[in-house]
Formats: sequence, C-alpha cells, structure tokens
Amino acid sequence: MLADKDRIFTNLYGQHDWGLKGALKRGTWDGTADFMAKGDDWIVNQIKASGLRGRGGAGFPTGLKWSFMPKGTDGRPHYLVVNADESEPGTCKDREIMRHDPHVLIEGCLIASFAMRAHACYIYVRGEFILERERLQAAIDQAYEAGLVGKNACGSGWDFDIYVHHGAGAYICGEETALIESLEGKKGMPRLKPPFPANVGLYGAPSTVNNVESIAVTPTILRRGPNWFSSLGNPNNVGTKLFCISGHVNRPCTVEEEMGVTFRDLIETHCGGVRGGWDNLKCVIPGGSSVPMIPAEQCDDLVMDFDTLRGLGSGLGTAAVIVMDKSTDVIRAIQRLSYFYKHESCGQCTPCREGTGWMWRVMTRMVEGRAEKREIDMLFDVTKQIEGHTICALGDAAAWPIQGLIKHFRHEIEDRIDQYAANPDKHGSVLAAE
Ligand code: SF4
Repeated sequence: MLADKDRIFTNLYGQHDWGLKGALKRGTWDGTADFMAKGDDWIVNQIKASGLRGRGGAGFPTGLKWSFMPKGTDGRPHYLVVNADESEPGTCKDREIMRHDPHVLIEGCLIASFAMRAHACYIYVRGEFILERERLQAAIDQAYEAGLVGKNACGSGWDFDIYVHHGAGAYICGEETALIESLEGKKGMPRLKPPFPANVGLYGAPSTVNNVESIAVTPTILRRGPNWFSSLGNPNNVGTKLFCISGHVNRPCTVEEEMGVTFRDLIETHCGGVRGGWDNLKCVIPGGSSVPMIPAEQCDDLVMDFDTLRGLGSGLGTAAVIVMDKSTDVIRAIQRLSYFYKHESCGQCTPCREGTGWMWRVMTRMVEGRAEKREIDMLFDVTKQIEGHTICALGDAAAWPIQGLIKHFRHEIEDRIDQYAANPDKHGSVLAAE
C-alpha cells in the first residue's frame, strides 16, 4: 500500500487551497528552472529511467514517446498537447487533478514542453468539464502573473505559452488524432497513422499528446528522482497511479495507490468493501469500459498493473475500476456499453460504423433471450472482424467487452435464451430504455 509520504497528489480531495499559494506550500514549482537548466535530454532521460508508462490507457513508456520528437528544427514549431478529454466511462481521475491541484499539471506542461522543445502547449478539456476548465484557466492566469509561464518562464530563459481548449463533448476526441483534428477546428475524426503526431501532428507540426496524469507526475519524478518512482510497484509497472473505483462498492472513490496494489486491497481499504461482502462480487471491469471484464473467481489475488491484467486478457486502461455484484444483469450491462460505442462511433470506417450498431442490436436481443444459441459464436466472430480492422481503437473498445462477456458468462446468455424459448410472452423490449 502507498505510504502518505509517497503521494504525488497531496490535494486530490480539495481539502486545501487549489491556488498558487497552496500549490507552493505543497512543493509545486520548486526548482523548476533548475531542472530546465540541466537540458532537455536530461529531463527525457530521467523520465525514461523512472519507467513511467502513459496513464491515459495504452501504457506506452512516456520518456520514449518524448524522445520521438525531432531533434533539430525544420522551421516548424513543436507542440505539447495534453489530453484532458477523460471520456472513458468509469474514469474520473484527471478531473480531480484539474479541480484540486491544477498547478502540478501546469508545471508538468512547462517541463514536458521544454523537454520536447515546444514553446506552446494546448490542454484539451472534455466538453462537460465546466468547473475544471474554469479552475485550470484561473490557475494558468495565476502562473502567468507570477512569471511561472509566459516569456522567460520561471526565469529559465524559455518562452512558454499554455492554452486551454474546451471540447464539445465527444468520446472520440479522447483519441489523440481526433483530438488534434478537433483542436484545429475540424470534426473530431481520427487520422490514419502513419504519419504519427511526432512527425505530423497539430497544424502539421511535430506534436506529442499526453494524458493529464502522465504530465502531472513528471515534476515530482524529477524532484524525488527516477529511482524513487521506479522503486514503487512491480518491475515494468512502476510508480503511483490514480484508481477510480465505481459501481457496487460501499464507498466509490478516486485514490492514489501504488501500481500493482491488489484488487482486494483497493476495494477493502479504500472503498469499504463490495456491497453485500466479498462473496457477493460477480465481476469487475478493471480499466474503463473498453477492457474485457474479469470474473470474481480471478479477483482473489488480482494484481492491478498493466502486465498482469493484460496476461488475463484484460487491461489496466485508465484504471477505472467498475465493480459489479451478483445483482447485476451482466448481459444488460454490456449491451448498454455497446449502445455507448455505437453512439460514439465517428462513422469513418465500415467495420466500426456498421459493426457497433449490429453488435448493439444483437446484444439487445440477447438481453431478452430473443436469440439463437448459434448466434453467440456469430457475435464473437463479428467482434473479431471488427477488432484490429479499424482506423482507431474505438472498434476494439466496442468489441472487447462483448468478448469478455461471452468468454466468462456464456452460460448466462444461454440460460436467458432458454428462458425466453420457454416463455416468450414474459419478456419485454429493452430498447425503450435507451
Ligand atoms: Fe471512427 Fe470507429 Fe473508425 Fe475510430 S474505429 S475512426 S471511431 S469509425
């Protein structure tokens, strides 16, 4: 379990002053110019050595990503783009940083931008986050006034501007290239890669898109050293992580914990346990709605890190842990997620545009039991035809929850079909609820 002295986010719950005075008291903006004086390579190497993996879902090594930015200049500016879109169902961690500790993010933006030789940073905030946008802007205004950003930021000699951009509330704008399109004022539609943003990103210039949490932890890593960060957690899965736990627990919360904490510790220590007791657990979605669920029998010693969860056919994703107890109609729960992905598909590629709607319609019949058992395999086959065959990962995100359902709860789908066959008049349509 994470000791208090190792917490990076010391005002996660907003108990103290979110503003500059409070942030300075907590150690934010301490020695920022000194780190910059050591050079961009030094910063990138520190982050590489810390073993930090991106906190937005994919878990790609952050320092390595930064090193993809071109070394020299061909006349184009460089940009840092911070993904504060946070739309993955179940995820509510970045908003706590923006609400309660915005200066850790702003300091991280300066350090990361300098490391990638960017004089400008854009923070793309989710459309529904009104308070967060206002708070962040107020903190940025404070930082400008104090000379921490702007011309000669922190007295480092580096000019740095930071902008907040408010999205319009589309899930797909959390995908990095759709986010860039949206920032440019176009419809939020993912781009084909390559070229990758590090070569052709925002306004056609080299850009790196990072998650809020990934950027916000970097100043503390520099202050406490990469060895401190990599000493927490398990090999290749290090550091601290914000977990957002929702669903059937007694006290849903967002909490900073050590990477590799067990699921049981997370639930019992921070959330007051599963509603109705541990034995009432049915399954958990461990990393936001797009990763496959894990059934209760695999949860006893479940380690919450990237590699363990991937080994179980799921993923840590955004660490949005959605707990379901035995009262859950798990077929209906996944059908509702299918509706979400159908609704959020941008429609560019056929497998996603047609497939998400098709899967939702079949899932809707499965909720009622109004299906044939052979269709379960057909549905699984279709998810496999969507997965990996689309421009962006929304296709995978729509396919994986259904694959997880069929893998672990096929018997429930079959029982539902049997029940319907035995008494077809008793079952109403769930479509009206959407
Ligand atoms: Fe759009 Fe879906 Fe294709 Fe992504 S996978 S680009 S959301 S149609």
